[in-house]
Amino acid sequence: MSEIKNIKVDVLKSKQKSQVIVKITDSENNEGIGEAWWGLPDPENPGGYSDPIASVIENILTPKLLGKNANNIEKHWQDLSDFGYRYGDQGIYLMGLSGIDIALWDLFGKKNKLSICQILGGAVHETLPCYASLPPLRSPKLVIQETKRAINLGITAIKLHEIETNYVNILRTEFGNSIKIMVDVNGHYSLLEAIKAGNKMKEHNITWFEEPIKPMRDYKSIKTVGEKTGIPLAGGENEYTLTDFKNLLDKDILTYLQPEITKIGGITTAKKLSTLIEMYNIALCPHNFSIGPSLYASIHWAFSSLKTTWIEIPWVPENFGFDFYNELPKISNGKIKKPTGFGINLE
Ligand SMILES: [Mg+2]
Repeated sequence: MSEIKNIKVDVLKSKQKSQVIVKITDSENNEGIGEAWWGLPDPENPGGYSDPIASVIENILTPKLLGKNANNIEKHWQDLSDFGYRYGDQGIYLMGLSGIDIALWDLFGKKNKLSICQILGGAVHETLPCYASLPPLRSPKLVIQETKRAINLGITAIKLHEIETNYVNILRTEFGNSIKIMVDVNGHYSLLEAIKAGNKMKEHNITWFEEPIKPMRDYKSIKTVGEKTGIPLAGGENEYTLTDFKNLLDKDILTYLQPEITKIGGITTAKKLSTLIEMYNIALCPHNFSIGPSLYASIHWAFSSLKTTWIEIPWVPENFGFDFYNELPKISNGKIKKPTGFGINLE
């Protein structure tokens, strides 16, 4: 039996974005690696807002798993979900469980020399296009510089996290219609502001408007933004359970769905979401802003899932205070090839 021997959590502390890395070792010395959601940035105390997520893993989840059979991934997910239900079925508890789940899948794949994508049924895409997801830069010069750097790798889609609509204008003026532009404001606007901003950006033909409204799950207002602007909407990175996603999809608001694998409960939930997404016939664009095990796991999931449309690649200038655990996936002509490595490894 492959017994879970050790679970270790490391918070890699960076000024703008930390990472919560989970390593699980079994009795045969196989290792699996996972990642929980990373927490909000805390430049004054790097990693400070990640520590509570690490604590869930160390103090609640780990003691329930040690000595158990590492192969029983679904059972562990169900047992841990059931055990922690009174902490809520959304939020920090599920973020911790996501890190554990990805590590267990990775361990199983590496031990059996199988890629996660293969275990999920194999790739249904040979390549997938990626878009460069720029962090909030608040500088036209940097936005242009980073867009040029992406174009040099053949990437033709750029996502902005700027709240001022003139950035879309700046990109269109500089690059014309050679690029697609997505805009994500992480729930910054009121309804009226979002409609106004949406109508301005519409003139510059944006591909999607992501999480336009504060609070981010005010579905009624989000629906109104879509109706009043006619711009396709994206969202879903702050949904957690299968029920959350079903409720959201039933509302018929979004064109692009963006589940975040470090929030939903890892690969175990992701594979179930693929079915839901297929049933609702909506474009899947897995959310990710971490070049780490979670991005690699997302890529395996994305390739096994029929409706995947885009892969999000964090696109961060050097010395920006984002340190990443893994290397950037190989990008050729703006596309990523199907993963073939064992576990979550890409090659
Ligand atoms: Mg977003």
